[in-house]
Amino acid sequence: MQIHTTVDDLRSALRRAGKVAFAPTMGNLHAGHISLMQQARQYGECVVASIFVNRLQFGPREDFDKYPRTFETDCQQLRDAGVDHLFAPDESVLYPTPQQYFVTPADAQDSILEGASRPGHFRGVATVVAKLFNIVQPAAVLLGKKDYQQLMVIRNMVRELNMPIEIIGCETIRAADGLALSSRNGYLSAQARTEAPRLYQQLQAIAHAIDIGQRDYASLESTATEHLRQHGWQPDYIAIRRRSDLLLPIDDHQTLVVVAAAKLENTRLLDNLEIV
Ligand code: AMP
Repeated sequence: MQIHTTVDDLRSALRRAGKVAFAPTMGNLHAGHISLMQQARQYGECVVASIFVNRLQFGPREDFDKYPRTFETDCQQLRDAGVDHLFAPDESVLYPTPQQYFVTPADAQDSILEGASRPGHFRGVATVVAKLFNIVQPAAVLLGKKDYQQLMVIRNMVRELNMPIEIIGCETIRAADGLALSSRNGYLSAQARTEAPRLYQQLQAIAHAIDIGQRDYASLESTATEHLRQHGWQPDYIAIRRRSDLLLPIDDHQTLVVVAAAKLENTRLLDNLEIV
């Protein structure tokens, strides 16, 4: 695997690389990230990963400074997964001067759920991802469904800005007890780690209730919210939404997803489950 820290170096390495499949990350890699790398192979002759902890997408009171940085072990995992090129710029490369041009997602998507809880987050995500896409020029990009709203925002950005990129949404990889793998799981105490699978269990309970005919979505959401609260969580939202745009379902003929964010101790966990 070749490691590139500058735009010029990456571009010249990719000049004759053929069709590129790309998976952007913030590092501290786990099996969820690695599954993107493995799937990437079928979408390109050349697999490119990036590691960049993007300050622009963190709020002022969020965990940018303490976000886990584990570059050496990340590189080993990427090598083992057969990644061809890693782009790992530092801030002075991606933001040599303070960024003044931004990609601002549609308000309908930026102002709900994660967007409402983390103002400016998706603007930071969309801006860095647009920059990375311009640098890497991938034919296909692999993103996790774990960050469901992020996947939607990036899909819409690519479509509306006519970027010639195929976006592939990849399934969430979970620990054996159901907890979605996340770099932030490392913040959990041993006790919180045993409690953490309850979030996914509540999503499964909602999916099951809908499967057997329940249609009072508000009541399902509030029952799950209350249940988490009673077990020491601070739920941010649990919401049954249309998969297509994460807005409220208006009839029975729409495919749904239940999305959730909740804090356990000081760690904010995010998960979702598509309802089939
Ligand atoms: P991050 O490093 O958190 O920015 O994530 C980089 C990419 O990995 C994003 O597309 C995420 O959605 C994806 N990802 C994170 N966790 C998982 C997981 N448990 N399963 C599958 N993909 C994931």
